[in-house]
Amino acid sequence: MNETPMRVYAEIDLDAVRENVRALRARAPRAQLMAVVKSNAYGHGAVPCARAAQEAGATWLGTATPEEALALRAAGIEGRVMCWLWTPGGPWREAIEADIDVSVSGMWALDEVREAARAAGRTARIQLKADTGLGRNGCQPADWAELVGAAVAAQAEGTVQVTGVWSHFACADEPGHPSIRLQLEAFRDMLAYAEKEGVDPEVRHIANSPATLTLPESHYDLVRTGLAVYGVSPAPELGTPAQLGLRPAMRLKASLALVKSVPAGHGVSYGHHYVTEAETHLALVPAGYADGLPRCASGRGPVLVGGKVRRAAGRIAMDQFVVDLGEDLAEPGDEAVVFGDAERGEPTAEDWAQAAHTIAYEIVTRIGGRVPRVYLGG
Ligand SMILES: *Cc1c(COP(=O)(O)O)cnc(C)c1O
Repeated sequence: MNETPMRVYAEIDLDAVRENVRALRARAPRAQLMAVVKSNAYGHGAVPCARAAQEAGATWLGTATPEEALALRAAGIEGRVMCWLWTPGGPWREAIEADIDVSVSGMWALDEVREAARAAGRTARIQLKADTGLGRNGCQPADWAELVGAAVAAQAEGTVQVTGVWSHFACADEPGHPSIRLQLEAFRDMLAYAEKEGVDPEVRHIANSPATLTLPESHYDLVRTGLAVYGVSPAPELGTPAQLGLRPAMRLKASLALVKSVPAGHGVSYGHHYVTEAETHLALVPAGYADGLPRCASGRGPVLVGGKVRRAAGRIAMDQFVVDLGEDLAEPGDEAVVFGDAERGEPTAEDWAQAAHTIAYEIVTRIGGRVPRVYLGG
């Protein structure tokens, strides 16, 4: 595959993306599936993952920003695309002309999209976002009547068509959390109000990956799955990827840069937070926080070297970290798997999340631009 072994690279298995999309569709058989490919498909590469997801039956693609959605179109990707994170002055007209469904959370956005639609001489496809309790983006219940009324009026003048009504959960990764039921009720009420006022949405949606996996009554017409598409578990409490019927798509691999013997009592890496207990072999893994490995996982982050999972010895530095092989030996150029698939005995993104006191979303998404992506199953 690679004539020159690479320092560090992320192997992305597009067959895993396809299998995960099929598995998720089977979990939500009456809904369409949106593959969320924001932030470069959570670090996996937006365009190849979007295509793979479509091949496996994803009928929608979702991004946060309009720029991400426009980049999919620029790469020749067709089909429904929706984006939801707008700021005033955003590229509304470009999005309308590229047939992108745009989310509207407030009056300022509706005003801007109407004006852009008039300028473009086209009807904008908009989806009204309800804040059913997340308290982040979306329209508050108290402001819903005004937004719905204005959207219905804009629909009558032909500048917009309301294609969707949607919302987002705060705590779907904590099954049984009381907010889940309350958000479902608020969504039902806000949706019913919009429909009574003349909105006839093509898609109603609220489920993210955890809700898709745990809460069938949240599936409605469309599920918006991000992390699960990449075969990563949204929360340890929900189970491992294998337990969820998913397979991780990303494997982060490095080539050992150096192996050497050091005496007992030798400090390792910045700050000497690790000191060898006996004469031992150290191996240098040439990947660090500039590549996205969290520095706060120093001393804990796992890596598979020579058939054994070992822990970062001392600080994770910008470009490299060290593992203590003990009596074992290795060669420069030997493979180190930083994370991959537990079913293959490899550490996982979930393990790194635990080591860094964060969530697996952050681990895969932050794998840096300096790390080449190598695609399998293309
Ligand atoms: C990121 C995002 C998703 C996908 O969430 P996952 O938990 O990764 O499935 C869905 N909807 C919105 C609004 C998002 O921002």
